Amino acid sequence: MKIAFFSTQPYDRVFFDRENQDRRFAYQFYETHLGPHIVEAVNDVDAVCVFVNDRVNREVIKVLASRGVKIVALRCAGFNNVDLDAAQEFGLSVCRVPAYSPEAVAEHAMAMLLTLNRKTHKAYNRVREQNFSLNGLLGFNLHGKTIGIVGTGKIGKAFCHIAKGFRCELLAFDIYEDKQLKDIGVLYVDMETLYRSSDIISLHCPLTPENKHLVTQSTIQQMKDGVIILNTSRGALIDTSAVIDALKTRKIAGLAIDVYEQEEKLFFKDLSDAIIEDDTLQRLMSFPNVLITAHQAFFTHEALTQIASTTLRNIEELLLGREPSNKQAILV
Ligand code: NAD
Repeated sequence: MKIAFFSTQPYDRVFFDRENQDRRFAYQFYETHLGPHIVEAVNDVDAVCVFVNDRVNREVIKVLASRGVKIVALRCAGFNNVDLDAAQEFGLSVCRVPAYSPEAVAEHAMAMLLTLNRKTHKAYNRVREQNFSLNGLLGFNLHGKTIGIVGTGKIGKAFCHIAKGFRCELLAFDIYEDKQLKDIGVLYVDMETLYRSSDIISLHCPLTPENKHLVTQSTIQQMKDGVIILNTSRGALIDTSAVIDALKTRKIAGLAIDVYEQEEKLFFKDLSDAIIEDDTLQRLMSFPNVLITAHQAFFTHEALTQIASTTLRNIEELLLGREPSNKQAILV
């Protein structure tokens, strides 16, 4: 059974090799994204394994099917980059890793909030330069602040538990309410109330056609002056140009993002010698109150181990026609 991996990094090989020790998959690793530009080169594999920025649209799926590929295996939870209808039409199975350490992402979201607020990234550099001044490093207590959590699935729930430890007030919006969270004092409200009452808003819902640009000019206007926004979910939940305008007027006091709408051409690459042509990202990076990480929230030892083992198990079960151990992993 052969698998072609796209958008791979050296660490992917390490974790997938380790999980393959008792299996007999043959691997092909490619650094490039999967997309219309490269799909014609796919040949003689049973499955393609893709990540967050691969483009598995109708055109790609059609070619994959004609080449005998049977499975598109996402090694992530989100699947907004795969055309599921087309997969169904052309008879391809699609699987994903529905949960691989939600704590990894939730902990990173809190790390970003703490860094943005207490400016530890600046303090670290200052002290190394023997600059022991505190001017410009003033933060605020998280204790008692109101955090609005949009999406209380696995990651949002883990984030609620962490924020509860800081004794924050927690408001939440989700299509489904979580009883356990209500029991620990999370208050479910409508989006307008969440926007109006939250000092900090953290996004943990998936990207869907309905919530693209959830954070845009009109919703930002409903938020508190001086709100802080965290996004570790998907870049397109945020209308970046609207956020830039609100950062300029100080309506938004801080932004921490691990995902960016146009991240596809940038993230996971070392571009330190390149000229970045994305003026929007450059503008964002020019603000002292914006913190950006390059889609690393998932990046822990535990998560990579889980991703590799679940992905291989999904492929194995689909190829052998076995009952899936986790029904949420199978999308088509
Ligand atoms: P999940 O499916 O467990 O939870 C998502 C929750 O969002 C569900 O409870 C769902 O009902 C809710 N929801 C759906 N649409 C909504 C909307 N419009 N408004 C409010 N709530 C809505 O998913 P999860 O494992 O918690 O992951 C959430 C997202 O995090 C993923 O879709 C993915 O985009 C992102 N993610 C990012 C990273 C990273 O490294 N940055 C890693 C993993 C996942």
